[in-house]
Amino acid sequence: MPNMSLTKNSMPTQEANVRNKNFSEVALGYSEDQAFDEAQRCLNCKNKPCVAGCPVGIDIPAFIELMKVRDYKGAYGKITESSSLPAVCGRVCPQESQCEGKCVRGIKGESVGIGRLERFAADYYSKTDNNEKKELSITKNGIKAAVVGSGPAGLTCAGELAKNGCEVTVFEALHKPGGVLVYGIPEFRLPKAVVAKEVDGLREMGVEIITNAVIGRTITVDELFEQGYNAIFIGSGAGLPNFMKIPGESLKGVYSANEYLTRINLMKAYLDESDTPAKRAKNVAVVGGGNVAMDAARCAKRLGAENVYIVYRRSETEMPARLEEVHHAKEEGIIFKTLCNPVEIIGDESGTVTKMKCVEMTLGEPDASGRKRPVEKPDSEFILECDAVIMSIGTSPNPLIKDTTEGLDTNRWGCIVADEDGLTTRENVYAGGDAVTGAATVILAMGAGKTAAQAILKKLKK
Ligand code: FAD
Ligand code: SF4
Repeated sequence: MPNMSLTKNSMPTQEANVRNKNFSEVALGYSEDQAFDEAQRCLNCKNKPCVAGCPVGIDIPAFIELMKVRDYKGAYGKITESSSLPAVCGRVCPQESQCEGKCVRGIKGESVGIGRLERFAADYYSKTDNNEKKELSITKNGIKAAVVGSGPAGLTCAGELAKNGCEVTVFEALHKPGGVLVYGIPEFRLPKAVVAKEVDGLREMGVEIITNAVIGRTITVDELFEQGYNAIFIGSGAGLPNFMKIPGESLKGVYSANEYLTRINLMKAYLDESDTPAKRAKNVAVVGGGNVAMDAARCAKRLGAENVYIVYRRSETEMPARLEEVHHAKEEGIIFKTLCNPVEIIGDESGTVTKMKCVEMTLGEPDASGRKRPVEKPDSEFILECDAVIMSIGTSPNPLIKDTTEGLDTNRWGCIVADEDGLTTRENVYAGGDAVTGAATVILAMGAGKTAAQAILKKLKK
């Protein structure tokens, strides 16, 4: 008999007032009993609506059936048939709008905690079996591939190519591999050890990872072909921050979320010995309503800010951030100022930010994105006192690779043009992830990396 409880097993977490002062993981993961109990809530539906909601088509009921008999290792194996980063996706995928959003149990009550079960299976596997040295016997196929960028798109593409016998080199601009998983998403949401383990797995498969290598500057795409690479995958993400173009954005104390999060996550600015500290501000305004904004706000709180504001021009309903992140941010004391838009950042005589002028908004008719258009309320200006402003209103792909690669087309948003296989307008050059779609999700980037790898294999094995 399935467990017909209307609610999910709750996720054990650090106390809000304790965790908002440290960088350790917030969600602690299910215990084995909780995972076993949660698995019993799945009805093993014949038409599997949850699978249709998963961008990489994990056979969700099949892995949960294995968890129902405590075969967690088997469950992990089932998940990895379709996804190469379950420990990451179990933690950061927006399940509520994907698999869990389609789960039958969600019609009357809460959906099955699919993400939490995925994370449990991955963590269980990592703790129990992963330390065994795997015997890998991969027959080489003679194809030499270069992967640009080591985010989820690049790592997945590299893994898929290496598994199938290609000689793969990953070129990463930063000094550590992992992309946004390492420099963007904070430790308290995604421990870096989880990502490092995935990267080690690739190295075990023979993938070479060269860091501090900026394609377009250290070496170009054409020079990679001259060096004997047969195919190139570009997974360079969308790391170029957008700004609002309002007065005062160049004042001291105004950051892009990317810079702020990179200082904190990659350069560990929260440690006293860090070479690149971040300003310890008292009142911080974070402009935006996505996952990036939530991460920046929660980091600012952890760095000791008294008041951290999320300033978002639409209402909470339209916020693109994962529900869990919004919920956790509120618990941690982040103040939400919705239907509010900055019009000017104001500084003192030394050029340092002291306040932000905002206006109130209302919602009008839906715009091209389908969300209600924010409209300024007349005579609604007010001042928000703040000594740091973090702009988190989206990012675009960096034009460096496009500018140094003749014949590589991009669209009007600077995203690389690629077909459904990831093939760009240059022969044997493939691309995927945020570099093609603009800022999106981990799982979509992974899906694109895998599709492109399969297309490369299909074409070059001929
Ligand atoms: P990236 O992860 O951006 O990786 C690209 C890599 O390419 C980087 O390491 C970069 O340094 C490197 N690179 C760039 N240019 C070059 C070059 N010229 N030469 C060599 N290397 C280069 N998604 C979710 O699903 N859930 C979340 O909770 C979530 N939270 C997020 C929080 C933050 C703060 C951010 C910024 C994003 C978040 N996202 C989330 C989005 C998600 O992380 C991205 O969609 C995903 O990482 C895109 O993967 P990618 O491989 O395409 O690019
Ligand atoms: Fe289980 Fe929900 Fe999927 Fe049905 S829709 S198989 S209950 S996870």
